[in-house]
Amino acid sequence: MVGENENEIISGQNKAVTLASTTRVSDLASTLGVDPVELIKQLMRLGHMITLNDPLEYEIASKICAAYGIDVTSVSDQQSIDSGESISTKGDLDLSQGAVERPPVVTVLGHVDHGKTTLLDSIRNTKKVDGEAGGITQHIGAYQVEYQDKSITFIDTPGHEAFTEMRARGAQLTDIAILVVAADDGLMPQTLEAISHIKAAGTPLIVAINKIDLPDSNPDKVRNALLQHNVILEHVGGDVLSVEISAKEGLHLDKLIEAVHLQAELMELKANPERSGEGIALEARLERGRGVVATVLVQRGTISVGDILVVGDSWGRVRALNDDRGAIIEIAGPSQPAEILGLNSTPNAGDEVVVVPDESRAREVTE
Ligand code: GDP
Ligand code: MG
Repeated sequence: MVGENENEIISGQNKAVTLASTTRVSDLASTLGVDPVELIKQLMRLGHMITLNDPLEYEIASKICAAYGIDVTSVSDQQSIDSGESISTKGDLDLSQGAVERPPVVTVLGHVDHGKTTLLDSIRNTKKVDGEAGGITQHIGAYQVEYQDKSITFIDTPGHEAFTEMRARGAQLTDIAILVVAADDGLMPQTLEAISHIKAAGTPLIVAINKIDLPDSNPDKVRNALLQHNVILEHVGGDVLSVEISAKEGLHLDKLIEAVHLQAELMELKANPERSGEGIALEARLERGRGVVATVLVQRGTISVGDILVVGDSWGRVRALNDDRGAIIEIAGPSQPAEILGLNSTPNAGDEVVVVPDESRAREVTE
């Protein structure tokens, strides 16, 4: 089969891209403007069994680009070329200049009643308000916690619908998935569904074995069942971290957060805060007196008060920004959730957010 479909991937576009030493498959797909699934198939034909979030070596990525008729330069060559038609690539490729570490974005998945909401609430309550005077905690669809001087962004709307729906729309929102499994109940249908969604997305996974405070909890049984579903935990030589917790009693939440930090370190998540902002709308509503209130997760760059934003079909000048504690902020950087006021209509969850240079551009894009 190798080579047989080569013509399929020749599109004759003459753009140029800049690639870092490794590129995520998902990022390469968006750079090339092709369906990620097609790209994975192409890679399979070339003998690379790879999932969406796997890093591709420069050599392989540049071969793929060449097959699409696209010129490639490596990031290390970029300084001297940095002009003309080069388009910088997205996400983890935001490495050329000024890329700094960004917090991981985490989603919690699992079977109903296994403790997702309780976990999100107790992390929020134990970690978030630490040392904070009078911070009002409000639910805006995502929140950040800080632990040992490092932040983590939690998406506050658990459930695979959010996860899969966003993904189906091409939005790569989540860096790390936490799979909550109740130790008294074990793997249930939605647990298995979550596992297959997580695998399909290629998202790294941490298992939270919950409700270990209950007398009939059986963490070993959970671990064995996970193994049967090819989730290979660390203690049997795999790369999936797991932590036994009680979300209700706040037991071992620190360990779970440490596991997220560890996983995030392995991923070397970076973004350049200096470029103009891009992100995803998590939720939006119309509020009396405030107008359209949209929660946005910034993914790259920075969104500032006064910026002109396009969010799906709506646009507007950012009139005010609030963080997840309701505090007024001037700017929101990579992985930061923020409430935005000033849009002219209510966007949909999952809509892309982009800062544009001026109002006429915003009108043009949304028409
Ligand atoms: P979700 O459907 O996954 O969001 O589950 P919830 O967070 O709503 O939890 C379902 C039920 O399990 C609630 O009654 C919680 O109080 C309870 N629960 C959650 N975590 C724990 C835990 O660690 N221990 C015990 N004993 N109960 C828990
Ligand atoms: Mg819930």
